[in-house]
Amino acid sequence: MSLFSLYDYTNNQALRLRRFLMALCSYVLFLGVMYYCFLAGFLLISVKGLVGIISASFLFNAVLFFLFITGRNKYFSDPSLTIPQIVFPTLLIIICSYYFSKDGRGVISMLYFVTFMFGIFRLRIGQFISLSFLVLIYYLVMLILLYRLHPERFDLSLDLLRFVVLGIALFWMAVFGGYISKLRASLAKSNSDLQEALDTIEDLAGIDELTNLYNRRRMFQVLDEEKKRGDRQRTIFTVCLVDVDYFKDINDTYGHLAGDSVLKTFAGYLQNELREIDFLARYGGEEFFVLLPHTDLKQAMVVAERIREHAKKMAFPSLPRGTVLRVSIGVTEYHPSESLDSLLGRVDKALYNAKVKGRDRVECLIRYTDK
Ligand code: GH3
Ligand code: MG
Ligand code: MG
Repeated sequence: MSLFSLYDYTNNQALRLRRFLMALCSYVLFLGVMYYCFLAGFLLISVKGLVGIISASFLFNAVLFFLFITGRNKYFSDPSLTIPQIVFPTLLIIICSYYFSKDGRGVISMLYFVTFMFGIFRLRIGQFISLSFLVLIYYLVMLILLYRLHPERFDLSLDLLRFVVLGIALFWMAVFGGYISKLRASLAKSNSDLQEALDTIEDLAGIDELTNLYNRRRMFQVLDEEKKRGDRQRTIFTVCLVDVDYFKDINDTYGHLAGDSVLKTFAGYLQNELREIDFLARYGGEEFFVLLPHTDLKQAMVVAERIREHAKKMAFPSLPRGTVLRVSIGVTEYHPSESLDSLLGRVDKALYNAKVKGRDRVECLIRYTDK
């Protein structure tokens, strides 16, 4: 088991840790350059000073690593800890490149821009500019210290030129960094908007326009999930097919719009009648599909009978008073491991039986072999 899998790592946390490890690589690079400059005599630093810088880097990163790995970074307003991750190495680079360097200044200070790149993941333009000011302040303090403590290393015109050029470079880094950061944020927003739109499309694709019930497409998905659950956990479920009797006559007598209204009203009733866990869909035309989880055939027959009885008592605004709606219902129970075709074939057969036996009735089929 890897160390990271010991903890609950969300995508965000994994990303933060990855960025931290990337930053760690740049520390190795920085310390490597420092060591080389030290050996080559480009640095005016003692062994003790060098060990101090290496130890400070190690300690700082050890604290960050501890925060990330234990999830304690989430207590901070920016869990990525971007500012400290930029401020500390910047300070380190400024100290090394300006205070301790003579010929190595240019080399080490270039690394400073690497630390700024990490801000692109997180910082806004205002934060970038504040950081740039901070760097310039570091730099000024460093120059003052240098002037006071080691005037022989101080060269006013050259150091002022460096200061101005650094200021210009920082300004543009801040502008571009902020711009890229904004692009990232808007890309993330478009992605989440797109995901939302896809979810809506997915939902709409599963809805029947007339009745607002789920459609046949969604029905097959749900049925498939329920079948898998049934096979895995040995749970039972029952399905019913409800078909309006002589619906064609309603259309022919009162018009198609009146028929539509009947379907809507009846669908609304079914929706109210069923439990939250039950699934209801428009199977097609004037047929409705009901899935009753954790329900055996006997209990399902009771539900189906209730629907059939209630249909007859319903009043439909689009039909003359006293018009009676009759429905036939087929019911069957799922048998573990059988195919959906077999289940649907059986419930269809049960409905057919209800029709041929005179309609306005509920019929069930228990086994595959039932006629
Ligand atoms: P049975 O008792 O055998 O079920 O007879 P039926 O008339 O109900 O069945 P049939 O299959 O002969 O006719 C179904 C009718 O349902 C025909 C079709 O025009 C109508 N229908 C299907 N979809 C809609 C719809 O969305 N709106 C309306 N108004 N009618 C529809
Ligand atoms: Mg039909
Ligand atoms: Mg019908």
